[in-house]
Amino acid sequence: MLEQVKTIAVDGPSASGKSSVSKGVAAELGFIYVDSGALYRGVTWQAIRKGADPQDAKAVVDAMHAADWHFFVQDGAAIFSIDGDVPVQELREKDVREAVADVAVIPEVRTFVVESLRTLKNFGSLVMEGRDIGSVVFPDSPYKFYLDADPEERAMRRYRELVAAGEDEKAHEVMESLKKRDQIDSTRKTDPLVVAPGAHKIDSTSMTLDEVIETIVGAVKGNS
Ligand code: C5P
Repeated sequence: MLEQVKTIAVDGPSASGKSSVSKGVAAELGFIYVDSGALYRGVTWQAIRKGADPQDAKAVVDAMHAADWHFFVQDGAAIFSIDGDVPVQELREKDVREAVADVAVIPEVRTFVVESLRTLKNFGSLVMEGRDIGSVVFPDSPYKFYLDADPEERAMRRYRELVAAGEDEKAHEVMESLKKRDQIDSTRKTDPLVVAPGAHKIDSTSMTLDEVIETIVGAVKGNS
């Protein structure tokens, strides 16, 4: 009998540790890792490179629909090409980072991304990180986790990441930008950041990465 495809949802605010945790869980279980935020960033990047103003919803949606999107699995992660290009580093750049939360409020963008994310189940079992995976993308999944950490700890983690990536950022600016993004993400009308019904809440403020990964892997194995 074919083993059933599983979807593990890891939601939470910016810099709560979702990426490292989700990659670790995926590696341990042999599942495919999916960064759902990358799709919102991809839509934003495509709009910007096509000369669309990220604040102009119609222009963003037109650029998104005109593009040719392909999804595939590489090195254990689901990734995508847009018009033949595979943006990775580009998605982390400042212009994309600053516009993505506004692009992610556009309902047509959310519909496109949510539908694309659901098709990834065709590749196999997934660990998907995001904001609305347990509440909207895979609400029926029995494996839902909501990762959080104190805002100061999250800002410090993000600041260290940016400095390590060679970005010249100031700690207080990172804190402000994180707060702004949290505010937009949790108050938007369509699919705001919420703790999905049935989600297992994990506060990672004083946990190590391995402890968080083991908490999730243990819960999934115990529930299989
Ligand atoms: O996770 P990441 O920081 O890459 O996400 C970028 C932005 O994409 C978030 O600030 C949020 O606005 C949006 N997003 C979302 N729903 C998701 C994942 C990301 O709205 N499932």
